[in-house]
Formats: sequence, structure tokens, C-alpha cells
Amino acid sequence: MTDAGALIIDGREVSKSLREGILAEVSDFVDRHGRKPGLAVIIVGADPASRIYVKQKAKSCAATGIHSLVEELPADSTEEEILSRIEELNRNPEFNGILVQLPLPPHISEEAIIEAISPDKDVDGFHPSNLGALLLDRPRFVPCTPLGIIRMLEHYDIDPAGMEAVVIGRSNIVGKPMALLLQRRNATVTICHSRTRDLGEHTRRADLIVAAVGKAGLLTPEMVTPGAIIIDVGMNRLEGRKVVGDVDFEGLRPIARAITPVPGGVGPMTITMLLANTLRAARMARGEKPPYQGEKR
Ligand code: NAP
Repeated sequence: MTDAGALIIDGREVSKSLREGILAEVSDFVDRHGRKPGLAVIIVGADPASRIYVKQKAKSCAATGIHSLVEELPADSTEEEILSRIEELNRNPEFNGILVQLPLPPHISEEAIIEAISPDKDVDGFHPSNLGALLLDRPRFVPCTPLGIIRMLEHYDIDPAGMEAVVIGRSNIVGKPMALLLQRRNATVTICHSRTRDLGEHTRRADLIVAAVGKAGLLTPEMVTPGAIIIDVGMNRLEGRKVVGDVDFEGLRPIARAITPVPGGVGPMTITMLLANTLRAARMARGEKPPYQGEKR
């Protein structure tokens, strides 16, 4: 905490510096192998928010020298059609990473789609074998949002070792892997969820809080001990289209040691980690053994 309140963790700045490193590594990869790393993104239907995310991903790939393909399949595509396209991409050496933008239309099983992606090309890190590898302390591809948070903490020299960390939310793509990564970095981790009896009782004990719920105004100043570090994953669109996180940023800013804004905090890091994972997949496909990204350096 500074006299002016919390350190504002600037995900855009951290992303910018990491992307410069990725650009240089991609260029080095191209020199060595004569081919760009490639990412294929499948989007099913025309959900406007998903379209924006997919566009941002393709733009970020281009800016770091990664080849990308965005394939929009009709909303009424059958599960078999999507699975067969994934199978083709699994076999296609031009693409090192495959990502299917979620959510999918209700008639498609997300589970079946995620499991069809080759674990070697699963740059989102959602495949059971990659989540299992993380659980077993042998991570291969780690989900981008929690990985980005670890990277962001590292950038600001915030070491979770020995801290009481509270993760609010237990989804497979954010909450659970976040808890595992913090535990790997030697924090003592509590996971809270919708059935937690008294959320404030847990968060008041925390040195580090990660809010990943999707409810604006969930974390308020009375629930936080001064000096805590607050990471806000939530993205909630208010009427009037303003996007806010899960935490009361203005209320917490004067008392926190460090805090992420929304937008401009966790969001940019998620895409940056997708780029890093795609480069990683390309290197692994060439028999290289890149260092694991979530390890302490
Ligand atoms: P999710 O799958 O809906 O999970 C939400 C979690 O919050 C669940 O575990 C749920 O508990 C828990 N929860 C709900 N109400 C709660 C309450 N009152 N108190 C405590 N816990 C509560 O969501 P997600 O995919 O993890 O995403 C979470 C948020 O992060 C969303 O706003 C999403 O848009 C955002 N997000 C942002 C990024 C980014 O790059 N910035 C990336 C991914 C997600 P139960 O398990 O008991 O239902």
C-alpha cells in the first residue's frame, strides 16, 4: 500500500512487455524451423461477445507473428460436424493450438468438444489430461486466466509463498486451476463458492484474494483486511454496457496493498497467455522442452 492507496496492477502494461518477449521468441522459432506457430480458433454461432473475443485473439496473434485461422461455424452445426472439424485440425501440422470459443450452443456438449481437442494442441488447458497434469504437479498447458494472474504477480514481485490466499469461485477454467497454481507457489489456499456459509469470514483472513464469480459488487471493503492484494477476474456488463469486475474497486483501492482494475487487469493477460501457450505448443511439437510457465523463475 502506498500513501495514495493501492498499487494498481496494470495488466495492459505487463501484457505489453510479455508480448514483446513472445514476438522475439516467435521470430527465433521461425528462424529455426521456417514456419510460424499456428492457432486455429473455432466459433460456433454469432454470439456478439464471443465474436469480439475471437477478433481480439486473432489480432493479438498477428501482432506477435503467430499465424491464426478463425473459423465460424453455423449455430445449428451438429456436434458431429464440430468434432470432425476438430479431428482435421488435430492432424494438421500447420496448427499447433486449437481453441473452441465457449460458450457453445446448448445442443453441443462442451465436455465432448474439449475432450476431442488433442491434449498436445489444447492451448486453453481445459482438457482433462492437462488439468490432471496440473493437479499432479506435472503441468503441460495451464488455463490462460490463472496463468496470467501468476505472471502478473511475478511481474510486481508479489510472492504468494506463505500467504493466506482465498479464491472465490471453483470453475474448472479459473477457480480450481488458480487454487492449484497458488498452492504450487506455496500459498495456503481456501476455495470459496456459492455454498460458502460466510464469505467475509474467509476473505478477512486473506493476504491475497482472487474473485472469479461474475457478480458485480461481491467483494466490499468490510470483507477485506487492509493491506490485502485483490485480483478481480469478474467481467460483468452493466446496463449502459459498462464492464465492471466482482470487487468494489473504488471502495477497496484506499485500503488494499495492490488491486487489479476491470477492464485493464486480468483480461489482457488471458490473451497474452494464449499466445504464450501457442508458442509453447509449437516448440513442443518440434521436440523442444520449453520451461514450464507457472514455475518460479
Ligand atoms: P462460473 O463457471 O460461472 O463460476 C462461478 C463461480 O462462482 C462458481 O464456482 C460459483 O459457485 C461461484 N459463486 C457464485 N455465486 C457466488 C457467491 N455469491 N459467493 C461465492 N461464490 C459464488 O464462472 P467462471 O467461468 O469461473 O468466470 C467467473 C467470472 O470471471 C465471470 O465474470 C467471467 O466472465 C470472468 N472471466 C474473466 C476472464 C478474463 O480473462 N478476465 C476469463 C474467464 C472468466 P458454485 O460452484 O457453487 O456454483
